[in-house]
Amino acid sequence: MTQIKKIGLYTSGGDSPGMNAAIRAVVRTAIYYGIEVVGIRRGYEGMTKGDFIPMNRKSVSNIIQRGGTILKTARCDNFRTPEGRQQAYDQLKKHNIDALVGIGGDGTFTGAKIFGAEFDMPIIGLPGTIDNDLMGTDFTIGYDTAINTVVEAVDKIRDTAESHDRLFIVEVMGRDSGLIALRTGIAAGAEAILIPESKGGMDGLFNRLENGRKDKTSRIVIVAEGEEAGGAFEVGRLVQERFPHYDTRISILGHIQRGGAPSCMDRVLASRVGAAAVEALRDGHRNEMIGIIHNEIAYTPFEHAIKHHVEINPNLLKLVEILSM
Ligand code: ATP
Repeated sequence: MTQIKKIGLYTSGGDSPGMNAAIRAVVRTAIYYGIEVVGIRRGYEGMTKGDFIPMNRKSVSNIIQRGGTILKTARCDNFRTPEGRQQAYDQLKKHNIDALVGIGGDGTFTGAKIFGAEFDMPIIGLPGTIDNDLMGTDFTIGYDTAINTVVEAVDKIRDTAESHDRLFIVEVMGRDSGLIALRTGIAAGAEAILIPESKGGMDGLFNRLENGRKDKTSRIVIVAEGEEAGGAFEVGRLVQERFPHYDTRISILGHIQRGGAPSCMDRVLASRVGAAAVEALRDGHRNEMIGIIHNEIAYTPFEHAIKHHVEINPNLLKLVEILSM
């Protein structure tokens, strides 16, 4: 068992609902094992500047249900430089921090991987991103809440679509990944989905609109930000050009997808991996992300977690097509 006395805890990159539940789990588990926790504010930005706050049982009271992150988050270009990382290490040493737990996405773990290779500082990562685009976990913290938010919003849009006989193009988050679009497309009963991973989506959509059921009065198309044609406005323009008789509208869901109270699934996931992070550090793990695969805690080295190999299940794409007839 490794003797860790003080953990530095930070959130970094885009915020996601459930980060607070993870912070609470790390702090309380550490206290349980007699380890001190210092909160590092604004991710790597605060690490380079020594923006640290002591954390205790009380400092994580009443946060499990809150979205965002009480430690705040930021993007930090200085940490991308060797000098910036040296400043961060000097600050950690000055405050006698001997291990780190970082909550974030692939950028956060890329930084952690580089830092962990340069300095003798064990780091454990927790998957905090709404994108679900990390290897080594079935789900990331925030994804479940985000997709539920999207489905709720699309249900509301559907009321208007139905009442006015409209075709709605709804854009959801996902610059590189169509996972949010795919799940929510199925759950919201979309006519079609367009995602970055699958090419020729526009042709498929045109085909559906041309040859699909003619008696449908409303239609919902879910589009991921990073899809081939260039997002909802461009998709809308192309549809309007080809099918001027459709009353086409665009809705960009935007940042509402990141906020709000975390779902039960996200709170439980965050609590489990948060506790496991402290135990992993005690057991001598370092430079790994903790996730849950098939309901079991899983340890994945940072370099594998960030590989972007999360593949789209072709059966789910097919399902959208079958069910939207
Ligand atoms: P999300 O997926 O929600 O956007 P993320 O963790 O991927 O979250 P990023 O903004 O990509 O968010 O990364 C967070 C921070 O990680 C960056 O601002 C930077 O400080 C650090 N980081 C990212 N890439 C590197 C790198 N190559 N070297 C050093 N630090 C990095």
